[in-house]
Amino acid sequence: MAVQETVERKYVYDFAEGNKDLKDLLGGKGANLAEMTNLGLPVPPGFTITTEACQEYLATGREPDGLADQVAAHLAALERAMGRCLGDPDDPLLVSVRSGAKFSMPGMMETVLNVGLNDRSVVGLARQAAGSGEQADPAGADRFAWDSYRRLIQMFGKTVCEVPGEEFEHALDDVKRARGIRDDVELDADDLRGLVDAYKKIFRKHTGRDFPQEPREQLDLAVRAVFDSWNAERAVLYRRQERIPASLGTAVNVVAMVFGNLGPDSGTGVAFTRDPASGAQGIYGDYLANAQGEDVVAGIRNTIPLQELERLDKRSYDELLDIMARLERHYRDLCDIEFTIERGKLWMLQTRVGKRTAAAAFVIAGQLVDEGLIDLDEALHRVNGAQLAQLMFPRFQLDHEFQAVARGIGASPGAAVGQVVFTSARAVELAAEGKRVILVRRETNPDDLQGMIAAQGILTSRGGKTSHAAVVARGMGKTCVSGADALEVDVPARRFTVAGQTVAEGDVVSIDGTTGNIYLGEVPVMPSEVVQYFEGTLDPERTDDALVRAVHRIMGHADQRRRLAVRANADTGADAARARRFGAQGIGLCRTEHMFLGERRELVERLILARTDDEREKALAALLPLQRADFVEIFREMDGLPVTVRLIDPPLHEFLPPLEQLAVNVAVAQERGEDVAQEEALLAAVRRMHEENPMLGLRGVRLGLVIPGLFAMQVRAITEAAVQCARDGVTARPEIMVPLVGAVQELETVRAEAERIIAEVVGGSGVEVLIGTMIEVPRAALTAGQIAEAAQFFSFGTNDLTQMGWGFSRDDVEGAFFWRYLELGIFGISPFESLDRDGVGRLVRIAAEEGRAARPDLKLGVCGEHGGDPDSVHFFHEVGLDYVSCSPFRVPVARLEAGRAAVETTGSDSR
Ligand code: ADP
Ligand code: MG
Ligand code: MG
Repeated sequence: MAVQETVERKYVYDFAEGNKDLKDLLGGKGANLAEMTNLGLPVPPGFTITTEACQEYLATGREPDGLADQVAAHLAALERAMGRCLGDPDDPLLVSVRSGAKFSMPGMMETVLNVGLNDRSVVGLARQAAGSGEQADPAGADRFAWDSYRRLIQMFGKTVCEVPGEEFEHALDDVKRARGIRDDVELDADDLRGLVDAYKKIFRKHTGRDFPQEPREQLDLAVRAVFDSWNAERAVLYRRQERIPASLGTAVNVVAMVFGNLGPDSGTGVAFTRDPASGAQGIYGDYLANAQGEDVVAGIRNTIPLQELERLDKRSYDELLDIMARLERHYRDLCDIEFTIERGKLWMLQTRVGKRTAAAAFVIAGQLVDEGLIDLDEALHRVNGAQLAQLMFPRFQLDHEFQAVARGIGASPGAAVGQVVFTSARAVELAAEGKRVILVRRETNPDDLQGMIAAQGILTSRGGKTSHAAVVARGMGKTCVSGADALEVDVPARRFTVAGQTVAEGDVVSIDGTTGNIYLGEVPVMPSEVVQYFEGTLDPERTDDALVRAVHRIMGHADQRRRLAVRANADTGADAARARRFGAQGIGLCRTEHMFLGERRELVERLILARTDDEREKALAALLPLQRADFVEIFREMDGLPVTVRLIDPPLHEFLPPLEQLAVNVAVAQERGEDVAQEEALLAAVRRMHEENPMLGLRGVRLGLVIPGLFAMQVRAITEAAVQCARDGVTARPEIMVPLVGAVQELETVRAEAERIIAEVVGGSGVEVLIGTMIEVPRAALTAGQIAEAAQFFSFGTNDLTQMGWGFSRDDVEGAFFWRYLELGIFGISPFESLDRDGVGRLVRIAAEEGRAARPDLKLGVCGEHGGDPDSVHFFHEVGLDYVSCSPFRVPVARLEAGRAAVETTGSDSR
């Protein structure tokens, strides 16, 4: 009977069937293993189970139909290719079961090596190892086989069956102590056989069953464990941090084992095609002889620099360098690589476009342009604003008495100062108290993630540039020094010793993630070169600083490509000047409230307490020249560029003394029999003006409509300042912005008066003043078509628009419940940090479209803090705004992101 061919989903791909562009389906690791296979590189054969299979498993709680059969078919093909059967007692094929999601999640997912070993095949493996070597070494082969078996039980127990890892560690330590040895490699076959027994007992104790002997069952359980690990707590946490969607799932790779632990002519290593810290060209990597993969990445044993492999095994070394060059040309980017040498034969186990520091990202992008591998658009695409922001952090200033007490590996750059802590929990605790801490560990593991997030920096005594600590810290943009082996770290005692000194929990250290230097005490910090470049004190044409040259070049391209202009929020001449140096093309928000503070407070009091028009006008007349002088200063700095001035926005009582204080003053003065008429009037005014919800009270345009002459005075001060500048040959381009408008009628009223004053003041000076409004009340966004009739420009006040759109006030909610909302995934990032596209963004879009429809030449900008947020900048580009405005320091970030937004087409994948 013919079996009906149903169209079954393909869940399993042989490496030869995939390629690097199938990351969604095969995960990053699987897609790249496929790519390398098809490039003809020496990759052990294997296959990949798709992310779709994982998604179905996670949705239904069971493996999808057909998966088991497809795995069986691909396993059979693998067995044929290898000439061995999985777990065969005489001549076993072993495999690794490796997770691999679309985006690399270091240490988050689990890998099990040596699957297929059991009580019988371990003997076969020993025979295999003894037989295939050039000089037969049965003792070594025995040792190797039992070592592989105990590793399987350990990894399988830990990752598949949740047996606590320490129990295995302790059993291992016990054997080592009993035998008086330090290094795992010194254990002999008998020790390891004993260890296997001990491990099996531990396994049984925790799982209530014997370690599974059936190879296919081992395989299936391991695959399922990889699926499950997608939802492990720390994987979820990492995804949230990195904003990786939870729906992607992971692929699973099943790969024929090759062995780096077969003796001194074997080993395992990791390599980068360029320095992932600085971007410098060269050979960067770590190698460990006679070891299995895990040992290098875990940073358990100290590795040797990759260059020394040349001495140990020149043939493999040359082949590796050749492959690295090929991969870099093929991927047109820095690649990172995992490889293993089995008895002189090189195997490639992984490659991917490597993570890098912010500095390396710029330097490498520049180099690849020089090498003709990519163009400037691509270079711009490969860097981002978050990286640029990192490069603007200050660095250590070392022209002092500071002497490094030790030096580790500069694993992730930056200058971090803080109190030493030794556990993740303590780091979290102290950080919550607002303390700066440095997390010190021998090495980190995924359980330290929270502490790493909480710390300013991470310091480890073990591990290379590719250890867990290094990789994760780089991903987070956290300072990290790893492998500082001069440190004796004693975690239980909460201290470390270095160069004869003891550093206890709470002592301050400074670590430099660029040089790897460690200092006791607090080292002062200085501004970064990149900031000096933006400040104009470091000439990019003359410096030999590769980073500054690369930043200069890529920024230049961003400026050329971007459509969005970038302005700054600045309230003073000094801020305006800095903004201009940083490339601001105007001021998008000049707030005027600070102009009512200090000694001017008294004038505001008089204004509020005025009983007659005359008194009020006198107070305003006194404020006018002061305001005018402020504006003159700013206009001078921004000569030729637009300056958007927001009329006074906060409720006036913010300028009065607090109620309680006044009440006490009045009571005390009365007691003394003093004349308190003035204070009493003030007190009454404060009582009168008290608001339950000031954010939704008498502020912005409402204030302007209620207090006669206030806005008029400001408009006059702005216009007179502009005219005065014009007389001095300075071109002032004021844009008067009315805050908190919700209805066109509000704006029309203010506008009528303002236009009268402007016409009167401007005279024949040639000064032009625009009048526009902020869009920050949802009603304004929804009636933008009407409002545009009365406004020459809109500036989106996305802070208030977010507050009023969501109906919560930032000051109240960020501490109160945002953590819970983030935890529940209600939002992936605070809507105050990055614009909520779906809700608040929709308001922006509607207002932009309807505003422009009513007035085609309407200028559109944004002046909320979102103007300096990379993601939000892309959104504002898409919506078609004319400019973004952000704090002066964020201006370069916004310029860069505006450029990236312009060159990027859809579906970018630059994570
Ligand atoms: P991770 O994603 O944490 O790097 P991997 O799946 O790459 O996990 O595996 C962990 C370690 O085991 C790596 O060092 C890797 O090179 C090694 N490894 C994985 N598969 C094999 C294999 N088939 N043979 C030998 N070593 C392997
Ligand atoms: Mg790996
Ligand atoms: Mg506002």
